[in-house]
Amino acid sequence: MMKKPLFKLSRVKGSPVSDSELLSDLKRVANILNSKTVPQKKYGELGVYDYSTLIRRFGSWNKTLSTAGLGRSNEIDIPDIRLFENLFNLWQHYGRQPRRSELAKTPSLISQSPYNRRFSSWTKALEAFVDYANSSGLGSPKACMSDNNTGSAKAGRDPSLRLRWKVLQRDHFTCCNCGASPAIKMGVELHVDHIIPWSKGGQTDMDNLQTLCAKCNLGKSNLK
Ligand SMILES: [Zn+2]
Repeated sequence: MMKKPLFKLSRVKGSPVSDSELLSDLKRVANILNSKTVPQKKYGELGVYDYSTLIRRFGSWNKTLSTAGLGRSNEIDIPDIRLFENLFNLWQHYGRQPRRSELAKTPSLISQSPYNRRFSSWTKALEAFVDYANSSGLGSPKACMSDNNTGSAKAGRDPSLRLRWKVLQRDHFTCCNCGASPAIKMGVELHVDHIIPWSKGGQTDMDNLQTLCAKCNLGKSNLK
């Protein structure tokens, strides 16, 4: 009979997780599944940690599995939103349309095959992403806070993927302050920044968001 996990760890925020803790949790999930491998999706349901933490630590999902002494897993069921988030992150990282070969390198968390299985080709995957990102669903997920005088809901602090995409596109993946772009200079990191800080009443919308490079964004927060 399979054992059920008795509890989930609630970790103190910011306290580091060791490699062996991550791997033993993965093995625990494999035991629950009574399987020699663990699909990412199953780990998402049963694991203590976010699977992206494991991928960042060990390089890829299959490398994580082999480090834990488990077998490779063929991902067939990664949700579209995860596929799109990964494409978005690459687009932001490179400041341009990512190339198929870049799926295999950091910071990509997903390899090429799940995209091919889902969209049949790289071009179609990119088209599906752009359709999704450009579609309405404007603004952020619904506000959970309402702290202004009018009583109308204020959008959350973090802009949605679609909103970040629209800001980066509008600004041509270029820092609004100094003009830096990862498309021109590798390693430039772009952020989507609130012009009026969210904590000071600034909205999470197109008018109050801008693209800044990490350096300018850091400089700005030091002036606050
Ligand atoms: Zn800048």
